[in-house]
Amino acid sequence: MVLPISGPPIENGAVVIKGERIAGVGKWSQLRSVPGSMRVTDLGEVVLLPGLVNAHCHLDYTDMRIKRGDKSFTDWAREIIRTKRTWNLEQYRASWLRGARMLLESGTTTVGDIEAVPQLLPRAWNQTPLRVCSFLEMTGVASGKEPKIILRGALKEISELKSRDLTGLSPHALYSTVPELLRLTAKAARKTRVTMHVAESEEEFEMYAHRKGELFDWLSKVRDVSDCGETTPVAAVQRAGLLRRNFLAVHANYLTASDGRALARSGASVVHCPSSHSYFGHQRFPFEKLKRAGVNICLGTDSAASMRARELNMFSEMQQFARVYPDVPHAQILRMATGNGARGFGLEGVIGELRCKASADLIAVKFTGKVADVSSAVLFTKRVTHVFIRGRMHQPVT
Ligand SMILES: [Zn+2]
Repeated sequence: MVLPISGPPIENGAVVIKGERIAGVGKWSQLRSVPGSMRVTDLGEVVLLPGLVNAHCHLDYTDMRIKRGDKSFTDWAREIIRTKRTWNLEQYRASWLRGARMLLESGTTTVGDIEAVPQLLPRAWNQTPLRVCSFLEMTGVASGKEPKIILRGALKEISELKSRDLTGLSPHALYSTVPELLRLTAKAARKTRVTMHVAESEEEFEMYAHRKGELFDWLSKVRDVSDCGETTPVAAVQRAGLLRRNFLAVHANYLTASDGRALARSGASVVHCPSSHSYFGHQRFPFEKLKRAGVNICLGTDSAASMRARELNMFSEMQQFARVYPDVPHAQILRMATGNGARGFGLEGVIGELRCKASADLIAVKFTGKVADVSSAVLFTKRVTHVFIRGRMHQPVT
């Protein structure tokens, strides 16, 4: 069975791959007559579908152990900042690569990765077939560096890295940056994509809307907090000029009705990370509100350091989402982990669907059932049997 995502399932289907791209999707009986010297690979009783798109991750932190207990989001944030300072480049590199392997083995073919240690990138990129959209993390509160120096450094880094895939900017969050950095990033972002943690925790919402709470108390000792009070986190991002079609808002858990409308009007995408969401015990993600408003909602794993299972696996994220939102059709959840992610990265027609001229990024999972059951069977699959990226097979997992 072929499940193109952008079209209905195709029984006894096949996908023709030429070089790095898809040259045909359809019934095997029709495609087998395609002229030329085709090599045929019969994958057996499987569903072929686009590789999964993980719209938010921090590969750097895969091996990071953050002691949490029943601590708050603010305590977790403090702890990860402390741990990051104690790690060396080799630790980050090994951690990054282990995360990339976990994603590849579980059917992710594209990841949107927040990169705090860009020095490891060129070598790490070469050590994985994964399509990595690297967003360079910018903070600035701890370093006290001038915003324009921070931004100039990140843009220089992007141009020197010469990635084969998408690169972009990631101001970490409102509270860990300063408004001037966000304004400058918005100006510079006309030609690049930007992603940022927005309205993740109740503490962040309290800090911006009411100038109070644990996060506000901590950060008011180390940063100017004149940007806080009488604004929601989404409104603050909008005020900085960042809320546009090329923006991915990560989390967006704490929103007013007008925040949802502002996100929808801007054409920005939202990334929901079910495991991380449950780990912190946030209030229910406003999926229905955002969906009704017409927002493009993608799924991501976030980092292994903010989940109980410590396993980067987009199937687990989809399953977790299906448990919390049992009324959402499984075909729609699959789109959130494929085509919607592609749209979030501006890569529609390239990844996230099986169609002619798209990149041949596809996966196979075991399946012997009926067409009507295919989306549910894929979503709850136990095993990815094959992974292709840019037309090359990278595993058969046995
Ligand atoms: Zn994150």
